[in-house]
Amino acid sequence: MNTEVLVVGAGPVGLTLAIELGRRGVACILIEKKAAPEFLPKMERCNARTMEIFRRMGLADRIRAAGLDRSVPMDVYVALAMNEPALLHLPYPSVADAQAQIAASTDGSMPREPYQLISQYTLEPLLKSVAEGLPCVTVRYGHEFVSLSQDADEATAVVRDEMDGTVEVRAQYVVGCDGGSSPVRKQLGIQLRGEGNLLRLYQGLYYAPDLFDRIPIGDGPGKGRHYHIADDRATFLIMQDSTKHWTLHAAVEEPAQMAAQFERTIGVPIRFDMLYVGEWKHNLLLADHYGAGRVFLAGDSVHLVIPTGGLGMNTGVGDAIDLAWKLHATLRGWGGPNLLPSYEVERRQIGDRNVGASRYASLGRRKWRSQYRPDIRDATPQGQATRENLARVANVEQRKTNEMIGAELGYRYVGSPLIWDEPGGPEHLFREYVPTTWPGARLPHVWVADGRSIHDLIGDGYTLLKLGASKADTTGLETAMRAYGAPLDVLAIDAVAPRDVYGYDLILVRPDLHVTWRGNTSPGDPAQLAALATGHSNG
Ligand SMILES: Cc1cc2nc3c(=O)[nH]c(=O)nc-3n(C[C@H](O)[C@H](O)[C@H](O)COP(=O)(O)OP(=O)(O)OC[C@H]3O[C@@H](n4cnc5c(N)ncnc54)[C@H](O)[C@@H]3O)c2cc1C
Repeated sequence: MNTEVLVVGAGPVGLTLAIELGRRGVACILIEKKAAPEFLPKMERCNARTMEIFRRMGLADRIRAAGLDRSVPMDVYVALAMNEPALLHLPYPSVADAQAQIAASTDGSMPREPYQLISQYTLEPLLKSVAEGLPCVTVRYGHEFVSLSQDADEATAVVRDEMDGTVEVRAQYVVGCDGGSSPVRKQLGIQLRGEGNLLRLYQGLYYAPDLFDRIPIGDGPGKGRHYHIADDRATFLIMQDSTKHWTLHAAVEEPAQMAAQFERTIGVPIRFDMLYVGEWKHNLLLADHYGAGRVFLAGDSVHLVIPTGGLGMNTGVGDAIDLAWKLHATLRGWGGPNLLPSYEVERRQIGDRNVGASRYASLGRRKWRSQYRPDIRDATPQGQATRENLARVANVEQRKTNEMIGAELGYRYVGSPLIWDEPGGPEHLFREYVPTTWPGARLPHVWVADGRSIHDLIGDGYTLLKLGASKADTTGLETAMRAYGAPLDVLAIDAVAPRDVYGYDLILVRPDLHVTWRGNTSPGDPAQLAALATGHSNG
């Protein structure tokens, strides 16, 4: 078999990459060793940036329709059990409320799309069906990557096919999206480094069809998505997208204890089936490299985080989107030699930062949990003091997990060979998002006069924004970009809001919505800027 790109692994990252390549007309084969997507719990929250990306891929509405109902609150609680008063209530808007907040916002501080709760076991089949519908994407489950060789012209993978034995796939490029134990990464001899195996937990998946409707149970916490139980077992109950399925994480000794742990957490008898129990580990690991030669790595194959903060799959979707347009540009001949090497420069720093954000969030979680004392349930002044102290510390520390908008929207590519460097730059903040058009940053979402977002007006190639009725002559840059064959739209927007938020008259935006360059007058050396943007610069 021959193809342009072989994608190994049909988790959410491999599927997103295959769809994005297919949308851009790149022929690819996606192989997955499992026979079909599994009904096993993992991620459940697509963050705001991931939903913006899915919107650009035309998938946001389908994902919302398959995920949690838009009216359900996303609140987070700390409690002793589901039938006892909450020790701490952190309210977060439902999708419907968040959409209303976004509609009213004019300062560029909000994303175009809010988050969406959708369980990985719902998202994967949905993405699989989208990938299967794309003419240039071939999806093959029951196909296991075995080994790899590469030379200057192509890479060849040996693939074990459940039906036909072993086959060879020749591709221009291979991308390993094959998860934490990545056989592709191992073939390349690339190491993961950091802190492995920090905590071992069991996770159970439960079908409890009445639980959501019965909340609040007695004096228990209200409806929400996460319930942290203040105990010495790190117990944590998560609502899944149907509201009928729930997962429970707990540091118990053996899997058989997970049924009793669920009953103890709910606090009253309730009808449930325990569908699955498995062990998993907390890791904070980053790969030394994001590929070698014609082979690239994305998602959990290169970064493993603790799910506190929800930066696992979401970081991987960012990898996929960065790599897809660069592969497309290189295969179609307009991308220069810096384009593919810039993938590691740009995305590894984000992997590193997000491993750090996850560490920061999980240390916060550990800190408030360390306030647990065995007297926490006692109806005594000491018991009351323990509860109040834990709630007070959690009110600061738990927020570190749930309020990560800076890590989600504010990431910026520093030192990239594709970005026109401006010395300095805003601080990288995990908790806060301050809109900026600093080169390397994501273009903030701003409404334009006709009620549409500027994001929705930007196509799949480069876009030169001309704002504030700019009269600058940009033909030099346009000619230089087109001389490479690079797709470029020029978008003149007279509305005041984008110019006010962005602070510049001219902004060159890449296919992934990151800013390449900004200025108030035409670039002094348009040929140099075009060479840099398209990966041809040698200086
Ligand atoms: C409890 C829990 C909660 C989480 N919550 C969140 C959250 O809310 N938000 C978030 O962003 N992240 C979350 N995560 C992390 C998220 O699940 C992962 O980051 C995500 O699954 C990574 O996607 P991936 O596609 O890179 O890898 P994976 O999902 O691991 O997919 C890799 C795929 O490659 C396949 N594969 C492996 N070897 C081969 C081979 N030799 N040949 C062919 N195929 C192969 C595997 O079968 C698998 O399907 C959570 C994780 C856990 C454990």
